[in-house]
Amino acid sequence: MASISLKKLNKTYGALTVVHDIDLEIADKEFIILVGPSGCGKSTTLRMIAGLEEISGGELLIGGDVVNDVPSKDRDIAMVFQNYALYPHMTVYKNMAFGLQLRKASREVIDQKVQEAAKILDITHLLNRKPKALSGGQRQRVALGRAMVRNPEVFLLDEPLSNLDAKLRGTMRAEITKLHKRLNSTFIYVTHDQIEAMTMADRIVVMADGHIQQVDTPQNLYDRPINMFVAGFIGAPQ
Ligand code: ADP
Ligand code: MG
Repeated sequence: MASISLKKLNKTYGALTVVHDIDLEIADKEFIILVGPSGCGKSTTLRMIAGLEEISGGELLIGGDVVNDVPSKDRDIAMVFQNYALYPHMTVYKNMAFGLQLRKASREVIDQKVQEAAKILDITHLLNRKPKALSGGQRQRVALGRAMVRNPEVFLLDEPLSNLDAKLRGTMRAEITKLHKRLNSTFIYVTHDQIEAMTMADRIVVMADGHIQQVDTPQNLYDRPINMFVAGFIGAPQ
């Protein structure tokens, strides 16, 4: 079970509070999207869930357990970044296999997982290439594949499509939606792109200045934004 609860979650840097008392309940297998302008605290929130950033206050629960002090590697979570963060000196195959090798999986298991993910993502023909010989879209597929091989219950995706051109973004939006349905995992996805939020999310979390403004389905946010900020951000005329 990978329900996630944020209870009065805070992040401060010295005197600066960048995430303020965030309360959020994310259901198991939900596709939730955090949107908001640059600097509003989306990545910081995601990184706290991933265990890559210390929590300054409040509680984070995954599957009902408080995990504030559980190290990142012991959380059943995989993260996909905007800049792909692939290992440049390794082939695609090695990039995808590396996390499983660290966890001491057998060669057979690794091969099976890598081949399976590669097939789903349509990158089997690229397994022997190095990242520099790939297009942006192909690199993003490898980054997704690297996350998939571990079968995590939770996927965290931080602006995974923002380095791609508009046409490819459209294709990848559909691919990621399909992947979510197929994998049966919880997806928490950060973007500042309204179209991504409106077309992909079960529910959208609108953030501004480290605060949650509103949480609802795309349709409800569009029909009933609680303030001008949400209305402006989601694009409904007021
Ligand atoms: P977003 O992902 O929504 O663009 P971030 O979560 O990256 O926003 O950043 C939220 C705020 O926290 C920004 O004002 C940013 O400058 C600040 N911030 C992020 N990391 C640090 C840090 N290590 N030290 C101080 N401030 C930081
Ligand atoms: Mg960010």
